[in-house]
Amino acid sequence: MLPRFWRKIKYRYNLVGTYCENCGTYYYPPRNLCPKCRRKSRIKEVQLSGKGKVISYSIVHDAPENFKMMKPYVVALIQLDEGPVITSQLVCKPEEVKIGMRVKAIFRKYGEEGESGIIYYGTKFVPDEKIS
Ligand SMILES: [Zn+2]
Repeated sequence: MLPRFWRKIKYRYNLVGTYCENCGTYYYPPRNLCPKCRRKSRIKEVQLSGKGKVISYSIVHDAPENFKMMKPYVVALIQLDEGPVITSQLVCKPEEVKIGMRVKAIFRKYGEEGESGIIYYGTKFVPDEKIS
């Protein structure tokens, strides 16, 4: 669904989180301190896979004025494979989203998707099977 050269570029931008080497927990967004270990925290930056699954979602029909073209859109609670749970827009049709579906992060603004008119920027997620 994306031009081939964009597929290559997007893999350079990974989701950066933190990892506590003391207890083995990943955090996203990144934290300076592990809340479990506190002073024993041994935090390092890591690149997360950006892959995960949908654990909850809602369909948003009421978009801001300048996002009219995008509605309705899907906001999902996504559990990354490393463990952190994040809330993100999931770029797919509302009827496509399912609990447990595999998703993958996309990064940075790289233009408009022709058919749906969606503008990608920041971190959003797409169904994994579509881009693999
Ligand atoms: Zn820790």
